[in-house]
Amino acid sequence: MTKYQHIRENLLARRAELMSRLERITSDVRHEEEPLSADFAEQATERENEEVMDALGSQARQELQLISGALRRIEADEFGECAECGELIAEQRLEALPFAETCITCAATAEKNLTDSVPRKSAPPH
Ligand SMILES: [Zn+2]
Repeated sequence: MTKYQHIRENLLARRAELMSRLERITSDVRHEEEPLSADFAEQATERENEEVMDALGSQARQELQLISGALRRIEADEFGECAECGELIAEQRLEALPFAETCITCAATAEKNLTDSVPRKSAPPH
């Protein structure tokens, strides 16, 4: 478990960063609960801002979930094991992608399946 200590620290730092960002977003949105101004153009801008804030917020929340998941796996000593085949995920991959739940082989397979399921227009006739 100590093996992933620095990844855990990175995740904790990232989580703190995201949480304070979310807090800022939430307080910004709350700010906008004041009655909307009568000016239409201004209203549209306000709505746009809200949508951007929403998108940022859900992105941050999604990442927070991934971080919590990774932290939980570290605590449970399951971190670094592929969720598909159970092999150890290369440490290099974990450094780059601490939320990775599968090893590079399984990830490549999943990606290939995804690509294969998309019909290709240029496929030659059989
Ligand atoms: Zn795997």
